[in-house]
Amino acid sequence: MTIEIRRVTVLGTGVLGSQIAFQTAFTGFDVTAYDIDDEALTGARDRFAKLAATYGEEVAGAADGKAEQAAAEIVLTSDLAAAVRDADLVVEAVPEVLAIKQEIYKQLGGLAPDRTIFATNSSTLLPSDIKDFTGRPDKFLALHFANLVWKYNTAEVMGTPETDPEVFQAVVDFAVAIGMVPIELHKEKAGYVLNSLLVPLLNAAMALGAGGYAEPEAVDKTWRIATGSPLGPFQMIDVIGLTTPYNILVNGGEDAQQLAAWLKANYIDKGKLGLASGEGFYRYSA
Ligand code: NAD
Repeated sequence: MTIEIRRVTVLGTGVLGSQIAFQTAFTGFDVTAYDIDDEALTGARDRFAKLAATYGEEVAGAADGKAEQAAAEIVLTSDLAAAVRDADLVVEAVPEVLAIKQEIYKQLGGLAPDRTIFATNSSTLLPSDIKDFTGRPDKFLALHFANLVWKYNTAEVMGTPETDPEVFQAVVDFAVAIGMVPIELHKEKAGYVLNSLLVPLLNAAMALGAGGYAEPEAVDKTWRIATGSPLGPFQMIDVIGLTTPYNILVNGGEDAQQLAAWLKANYIDKGKLGLASGEGFYRYSA
């Protein structure tokens, strides 16, 4: 049996959902994007228009109206039943709140055809936390994108022990078809590959800064020169935005909370939130 994926529905049209829907439409799939109400759908339209402009500037082959066409072809709806009625694959990118995810999977299980594969883009939950709410654990797995999918194009694919290997392979093939580089995980791991590497690095950098061992610039310089990496860890945090690590650290143990307090007092309270705000560990010109 070959599993064919042609019609894709994306749930949630926020930061990541809008990018996943747009990239999928841009690469030739039929895409439906679902969000909760008209206000959210208006926001989605704005995001798609902005993505079309960005693709026009940054993505090969996106000129000549191809990006605008992709945006125009995405079907937007706040009717969940209509959104998934004929979907081969549903990619879920709703807020990172377990109760919201569980609720939407409970509904989905009864609304989507039996053949439909469900994939979660969750960054911090394991698919095993969700699988029992899907009604089809064999057709459920994680497909995790990185922010700015058109240039940071990894797609981490991670199943549970119950995921059908053919479903896993179909999702790997789909990732390739939409221009991603699939990263296959053989077992469930919080943080997948990327954040298993990145989070300890960023925390170690902040511990050096907060502990007064070295200035952020010196930490970054060391990492760049000695490893050949283009960016140091503090430059990476500026790109991510300081509030994301802050929100994670402030809920952690004693050491993590000390790092959070350092970030807050020295940067966040002074409006230094990272690249998007014009200043974080570094100052950026418009
Ligand atoms: P976001 O807050 O930007 O967007 C969430 C969207 O879901 C909003 O459009 C919201 O209206 C919609 N929504 C809210 N309740 C809903 C419901 N009950 N049903 C359907 N839609 C609902 O969030 P985001 O940053 O795009 O994150 C979405 C998912 O993607 C999360 O699981 C997150 O872990 C993951 N993710 C985020 C990033 C990132 O950098 N932001 C990167 C990788 C993965």
